[in-house]
Parts: sequence; structure tokens; C-alpha cells
Amino acid sequence: MDISQENIKNILVGDCAQNSVFFQAVQEVISSIAPLLNSDKKYNMFSVLERLIVPDRVIKFKVSWLDDGNNIRVNTGYRVQFNNTLGPYKGGLRFHPSVNEGIFKFLGFEQIFKNSLTGLPIGGAKGGSDFDPKGKTDFEIMKFCSAFMRELHKYIGPRIDVPAGDIGVGAREIGYLFGEYKKITSSYDGVLTGKPHVFGGSLMRPEATGYGVVYFTQAMLELEKKEGLAGKICTVSGAGKVALHAIEKLLQVGAIPVTCSDSRGMIYDSRGVDLPLLKELKLQNGASLERYLEFHPDAKYTPVCDYSEGEHAVWGIQCYAAFPCATQNELSEADAQNLIANGCVSVSEGANMPSTPEAINAFLNHNVCFAPAKAANAGGVVVSEFEMSQNASMQRWHFEKIDTKLKIIMEQICKRVALTAKDYGVEGNYVDGANIAGFKRIADAMIAEGV
Ligand code: NDP
Repeated sequence: MDISQENIKNILVGDCAQNSVFFQAVQEVISSIAPLLNSDKKYNMFSVLERLIVPDRVIKFKVSWLDDGNNIRVNTGYRVQFNNTLGPYKGGLRFHPSVNEGIFKFLGFEQIFKNSLTGLPIGGAKGGSDFDPKGKTDFEIMKFCSAFMRELHKYIGPRIDVPAGDIGVGAREIGYLFGEYKKITSSYDGVLTGKPHVFGGSLMRPEATGYGVVYFTQAMLELEKKEGLAGKICTVSGAGKVALHAIEKLLQVGAIPVTCSDSRGMIYDSRGVDLPLLKELKLQNGASLERYLEFHPDAKYTPVCDYSEGEHAVWGIQCYAAFPCATQNELSEADAQNLIANGCVSVSEGANMPSTPEAINAFLNHNVCFAPAKAANAGGVVVSEFEMSQNASMQRWHFEKIDTKLKIIMEQICKRVALTAKDYGVEGNYVDGANIAGFKRIADAMIAEGV
């Protein structure tokens, strides 16, 4: 490859000490797109990669707010506007104490490729705060969201940057953020997606990522001539918006999802998890998964502290298909080896970059069908774009219309990724297929728009 790896390393490492996950994401793309850069010199001539790995801007701001005891609290807010070549910046907001600038750069970078793969007119961004919503009252969440938006509103707009939800940010938070934006600007704009549908949110946005990852998996299994999901044991990690809706769709297609997890532990219910109970425990009350045992004493709860070093209990359970839906780097090489040894046929990433590079290599080396996040979990941003369209045209689409369109787009992404992999001599490698197809669309547009 002509492009200097050293040069890229300097751009990334010289930048910020917290860049390891960002570096991991960039390295994966660089190694995937080497055949494209070698076969078509225009991408090097226009320095597309060097330009693509540097965000357009990184916005960092102070968020001061009052808790219920009238104590002043201070958090940090971020918005990484990575690339708007294909459309307005688009990507979620994450509220979690672990975040930093490097994490938002990794997520924003991934988002560019994901949004490109959808074929829709949306650029890539990500943001959020180190604010921890856990243990806060509803009123404190509202006050934090208002304070966060008092700063963020300067940088966003329906044709500029349209944030959505992610970890720690759901319809409630988006509602409070939208309310504050409207007060400040006196404008009723579709400036956020994932709104409650009582005022402009799209039906099916909460379900979109989880349903989409199952649609993608069905399409991938069919293309790879494997058996479908009906009647098959599936394992899912996470117990948030993505995980619970993936479980919901798995149940609808006749699969048997037997696990879920959160940051404290894992539930294994061999008869299939009780979804209504999980929704009540997690989405409504944020309770510990251990409480599942009060209703299903035959199920098994494993607390995080009982997990083996470097392994996660979910991936030790025998399954046909695995769905990591919690967070980045939650599936290690040891986990991958456990899944492979237990006969797992397919792994689909609902979370962003949940598998480590070593785990991905193990899956690819053992011919496990592997659906990378930037393709498999694009359903959320697809329906977010539908929400933007509905808001701009003052329309409301019904559930079936959105579900049908989502399924078609997920199948199209799957076919595009598989075909691209074949065209570049790596048939069956959906990681390379997704990176090349995502890069090509954005790179061609960057060249067409000039420097
Ligand atoms: P939620 O906040 O709704 O749920 C996250 C879940 O993951 C929770 O069960 C949480 O447990 C668990 N979790 C978080 N951090 C850890 C950790 N370090 N170790 C173990 N478990 C953890 O988030 P979402 O479901 O929205 O997002 C999940 C993933 O999907 C993220 O990677 C996100 O970027 C990605 N994603 C989300 C989209 C969306 O539409 N929401 C779209 C595309 C990707 P606990 O409650 O105990 O913290």
C-alpha cells in the first residue's frame, strides 16, 4: 500500500492519549481497504484516507447542573462531527461515566462507514457525556439534559447535525433534549431522532437496531447457505435497547434466545428468556438481572465477579448464533474460541465493535459467519433517517411500512457487503466487504466534492 502507515499512526497517536479504541477501528479499516487502494490510485492521489481519519471537528464543553439537593455538579460534554460528505452529521449520544474523546472518535469513525453502507444521505458523528444516569432521579436527568443542550444547540440543526440515542440515552432523554432545544431556538425542527412518538418520533425506532441485526443475520445465513434461525438456540449479551429488541425479533422468528446480561451479571434460561419480565425489570426499572430468579428459579444467574479471567459467561453457553449487544470489546479471543468449540455458526454484532480483533480473526479463520457492527447494527440509523424524512415532510409512517423498508435495506446492505467481498477476492469476509463498500461510497463522494 502506498499510503504511509507511519504517517497515519502519527496523525492518530499524536492526537490524544485515549485513542486505543479509535486506533483499533482505523487499523481494521486500513487493513481491509488495502486491495482497493492498490487497485485504484485515485484514493491515494486525493489523500482520502488521511482526510477521513481526522474528524471535521471535536467539540468539548462544560455541563454544569443542579442535583436534587441543589448541589452544583459538573460534567463534560462532547460532539465529534466526523464527516458530512454524504449528508448532515448523524450519530448517537452516549451518557456513561466511561466515555472520553477517544471513545467518541472511535464511535464517530465507525458511524461514517455504517451510514455510508445504508445508501442514505447521512454523514457520521457521535457524542455524549461522562454523566451517569444510573441512580439519578427523573428530575435530575431532565436538568442535566437541559444543561447539556444549552451548549450543544449551538452546533446542531436538521441540516447540520442530527443526534440520536445510544448507551444511557433513550426516548426519555431525547424528549428532554428536544424540549430544551425548542425553548432556546423557538423552532420545531427534527433536530434529534429517537423522540417519543407522541411528538414526532418514528414508530419502530426503539426496535430498529435489534430487529435490524436479526434481519441482517437471516439474510447472511441464507446467502451463506446455512440453516435459518427458527428452532435454534441463540445467545445475546446486554439487556438494553438493542439486546431486548434483538431478543424480541429472535422470538418472533421462532429462535430460542437463552441469555442476556448487564454490567453486573448474566442470566441463562435454557427454555428461552422471559422477555416481558426482562422489559419490566430493565427498561422500566433498571433493576438487577438477579431479580429474574424470583420469577424463574430454574434459570441461572452468574455475577460478573464469577467470570473467568478474560472470558464472559454468555459466550460459554452453547449456541447456533451469537449476538453481542452490550458494548465495545466485550467478546475476547477466549470467548471466540469457546463459541467455536461449541459449534457456533454465526456471530452478529448488535453493539459497536464488541469483538476484539483477535476474536474476529478466530471467527474468520474457522469459517464462522461474522456480521460486523457497521453493517449488522445499521438498522437504528436507518430508521433515524426515516424519522428525519417524516419530520421534514410533516408525515407519520405506519409500523408495517417502516418495518418493511427496514428489512429491505438490511437485506440490501448484506448483499452489497457480500458482493463487495467477492469482487475483492475475499468471499465470505463481511468485515472486509463492509469496510471496502463503506469506504468506496464516501471516498468517491469526497473526491467529487473537492478538497
Ligand atoms: P443501553 O444503555 O440501552 O444498554 C446497554 C446494555 O449494555 C446494558 O444492559 C448495560 O448494562 C450493558 N453494558 C454497558 N456497558 C457494559 C459493560 N462495560 N459491561 C457489561 N455490560 C455493559 O444501550 P443500547 O442498547 O442502546 O446500546 C448497546 C450497544 O449498541 C452500544 O455499543 C451502542 O453503541 C450500540 N448501538 C446502539 C444503537 C441504538 O439504536 N441504541 C444503534 C447502533 C449501535 P447496565 O445497564 O448494567 O449498564
